[in-house]
Amino acid sequence: MTESALQESHASYRHTVLAGDPWIHEIKAGQVFRIVDLKGNQAVDTLFYSAADTQEHYSASDTITAQKNIYLTAGSKLLSNRRNPMLTIVADTCGRHDTLGGACAAESNQVRYDIQKRHMHACRSSFLLAVSDPKWNLSKRDLVPNINFFMNVPVTPEGKLTFEDGISQPLKYVEMRAEMDVICVISNCPQLNNPCNGWNPTPIQVLIWGPDVPC
Ligand SMILES: [Zn+2]
Repeated sequence: MTESALQESHASYRHTVLAGDPWIHEIKAGQVFRIVDLKGNQAVDTLFYSAADTQEHYSASDTITAQKNIYLTAGSKLLSNRRNPMLTIVADTCGRHDTLGGACAAESNQVRYDIQKRHMHACRSSFLLAVSDPKWNLSKRDLVPNINFFMNVPVTPEGKLTFEDGISQPLKYVEMRAEMDVICVISNCPQLNNPCNGWNPTPIQVLIWGPDVPC
């Protein structure tokens, strides 16, 4: 556990992302970005792109192999597909974040749970909605494997993945410093078919310290 010295009252940007909603925003190099799990047990599906060239994006495989650990926490550097550090996690009161579980989608809901679940709101739809404004220069083909902040996806001794009840609690947070100008895309996961949100999706808060970027 690494706590932050930053005070909420000094943040230049503060926004509550409601349960199930998307959020997209630019974060400038040197700014500090915090995600707060307001009610606990909320999976926050997150992607990062270089604002200068959106072909450069967060890469789960490069991040995992460089740090030799599948979980993210304070000290983790989030690397791009060009192996450049995009952000560094500087504080974390949850302790562990998932790199492997991916984003829920209408298709995976149908395959995993039931054909009746296909219509349910899913993270992939939220990502698509977030990137639909052409000003971001992002599209469907840019969606890559994402980070699941606060989500508990333990790997069993046999090498299997499981989606388990969360390890996060109300007001736990993760905070990162941008090492380059990035576009952050979040889906505040609406999943109701597994315990990743404690069967009850809830709001999160996003905060930025440093000069704000209009968007
Ligand atoms: Zn989801």
